[in-house]
Parts: sequence; C-alpha cells; structure tokens
Amino acid sequence: MRISIDRGLCEGNAVCEALAPLTFDLDENDQARVLAEALRPDGEVSEDHRALVERAVDGCPRLAISVTDQP
Ligand code: SF4
Repeated sequence: MRISIDRGLCEGNAVCEALAPLTFDLDENDQARVLAEALRPDGEVSEDHRALVERAVDGCPRLAISVTDQP
C-alpha cells in the first residue's frame, strides 16, 4: 500500500504517530511523515502495517492521510 499525507491539512497533533508509531512520526516542522524504516525500496509500505495505518487514517482529525493500493 502507498500512504499519502496532505501536508496542507496536517496540523501536527501526532495522533497518527500515537496510533501507528512504527509507520508515522513528525518532522522538524511538526508535519507528519512516513518513517523511512516503514518504506520498502519501491515506496510502498508493508501490509504488516495495515491494521494500525487504517486506525491512523480513521483517527486523523484532519483527514490528512490516505492509502492507495496498486491493482
Ligand atoms: S493525525 Fe493527521 S493531522 Fe495529526 S499529525 Fe497525523 S496526519 Fe497530521
């Protein structure tokens, strides 16, 4: 799965990091990002992360996180 974060919407409250700490953290500008350790070389995030990522998608109060799946 591929994760996108709309930085224009993100308000840096770290809810995603709290819900899925192996996938998200905040950068130096208090904007959410996907951890490099969570990314595969092709830019996708392992399915192992999916359950918590979906919690973060649902928990983000700004609806800033989206997940897409390759067909
Ligand atoms: S939960 Fe949403 S608004 Fe909060 S830091 Fe994560 S992406 Fe940004």
